Amino acid sequence: MSAKILAVVAGLMPAADALSQTAQAVTVQRAGAQAPSVGPAQNFTGTVRVDGRFQGTAPARISGGTVSFEPGARTAWHTHPLGQTLFVTTGVGLVQHWDGPVQEIRTGDTVWIPPGVKHWHGASATNGMTHVAISEALDGKTVEWLEAVSDEHYRR
Ligand code: MN
Repeated sequence: MSAKILAVVAGLMPAADALSQTAQAVTVQRAGAQAPSVGPAQNFTGTVRVDGRFQGTAPARISGGTVSFEPGARTAWHTHPLGQTLFVTTGVGLVQHWDGPVQEIRTGDTVWIPPGVKHWHGASATNGMTHVAISEALDGKTVEWLEAVSDEHYRR
């Protein structure tokens, strides 16, 4: 029995308060119900598509989406104020933090980007890659975009 139910049973809390947490409906966002968006050229190199964007309801501050990169496509350099988690669902990709090695990532891998770390992620040169990206907002922002990743950096 939950603490809230126990509080109601003990007469410490009105039943309506206990129920308010459970009265909200579970929602299912159907695959394909939302039109995919294209990763804008100022923040991405190459062809990038974003599907299944989602946004938590305050006080939750989680949001994310499924991002698909064609071979050679990648994000610009950027940072996340509270970090970011990537779940690779398809293909072969690359991730790098500033001054760090380019690391290969594959289907099933989970990547953690710590808060404030300058980095990029994307597909490998020869394989596409899709990842689910999840981050939390700080003061309403989840990302700070920086300069594009040059071919020289990408091929390193
Ligand atoms: Mn990122």
